[in-house]
Amino acid sequence: MSKSDSIIDLCIIGGGLAGLTLAYRALKENLNILLLDHPFEGTASKVSGGVMNPITGKRYVKTWQWDLLKDHFEILYKELEETLCESFFHEIQIIQSLENPEQENQWIARSGQDEYAQLISWASSVEQLPIQNERLSFGIIHRAYQLEIDKLLTLLTDFLKAKNVFHTERFRHQEMEFKENKWTYKGIAPRLGFVFAEGYKVSENPFFQELPHFAVKGQRSIVEGQLKFEGIYKSSYSLCKINGNRFWCGSNYEFQNRDCSINKSEKAQKKKFLEKLLGTENSILQELVGIRPAMKDRRPAIGTHKIYSDIHLFNGMGTKGSSLIPYCIHVFLSFLLKNEPIPKEINLNRFYF
Ligand SMILES: Cc1cc2nc3c(=O)[nH]c(=O)nc-3n(C[C@H](O)[C@H](O)[C@H](O)COP(=O)(O)OP(=O)(O)OC[C@H]3O[C@@H](n4cnc5c(N)ncnc54)[C@H](O)[C@@H]3O)c2cc1C
Repeated sequence: MSKSDSIIDLCIIGGGLAGLTLAYRALKENLNILLLDHPFEGTASKVSGGVMNPITGKRYVKTWQWDLLKDHFEILYKELEETLCESFFHEIQIIQSLENPEQENQWIARSGQDEYAQLISWASSVEQLPIQNERLSFGIIHRAYQLEIDKLLTLLTDFLKAKNVFHTERFRHQEMEFKENKWTYKGIAPRLGFVFAEGYKVSENPFFQELPHFAVKGQRSIVEGQLKFEGIYKSSYSLCKINGNRFWCGSNYEFQNRDCSINKSEKAQKKKFLEKLLGTENSILQELVGIRPAMKDRRPAIGTHKIYSDIHLFNGMGTKGSSLIPYCIHVFLSFLLKNEPIPKEINLNRFYF
């Protein structure tokens, strides 16, 4: 850790999508930032599909606060593309398989509602998919988005390293000291405090152990195979084209599981799904596990510790980090710098009072 000779405004712990983009936005506010990240196994951002889907759940409803989230993520990711001089944020179409009459009826009924007219439509077949006869029909989701998340994480890490913000270091909470009413770490007492963006590891953070953590393990594959299909196909798993003949395929949900080892039966099941789409010639190049950081009520948890005004939390992004994080950054920085209130549903203090 360096930077000890200058005044640090904010020390961010965790360099997943949440910590990195928060550091970037805070820098734009002219804050002096120190970000510490240790590459723990199970980091969710490293396995994420980066998909932002306006439609969610078995009843195909609009994603919570979609319009608001979209306003924020469009601005942030487009701005990052400009700053980092690369393209990694794309509008895409999602093809949702409808596998029984109930699903089909539900979909068709939704697409008739005004609020959904621009977002979803229906098709009896999708030419590029080699599974026409096995599926009843297909829902089409328009105005979905995808981040090439590996690319963004690498570019943003390099950008923050060049600005002497990002440091590879494990933060050890037990080495913190409370002096003159402020927390310090290795002699640093950030003016605005410490922000913990540690992903699922937050359950080991002594300041936040009593929160209703709800880790959700997921496993994804990077696969090589032949299929002329752009966008995302969503059935029991999702298949997303990355580039050329490479696809991202995931993922399952194992609740309250923080074990980062590969689940072999899950891998075998996914292989069957892949064979239907890519044929038996496909090969899984990499299988990796990530643990989604969530709270039991499935909403982000951001804000300040109930006792210490210089200890903050930026966590609980669950299954939808790519769409939630930009909005949460806006809320958190407005709270920290302008004392604006954090909405109740995502405020950490909902667990205190
Ligand atoms: C299989 C899978 C697929 C997913 N697909 C999608 C998707 O398509 N779309 C979507 O929006 N979301 C998706 N998600 C969810 C998404 O990945 C998360 O919401 C998001 O990445 C969480 O980011 P984060 O920065 O909060 O946590 P993380 O990405 O877990 O980052 C936390 C970071 O903090 C570091 N850290 C922890 N403790 C310390 C410490 N003491 N010192 C230093 N560093 C520390 C960790 O090593 C890590 O680098 C998926 C998740 C999984 C598992």
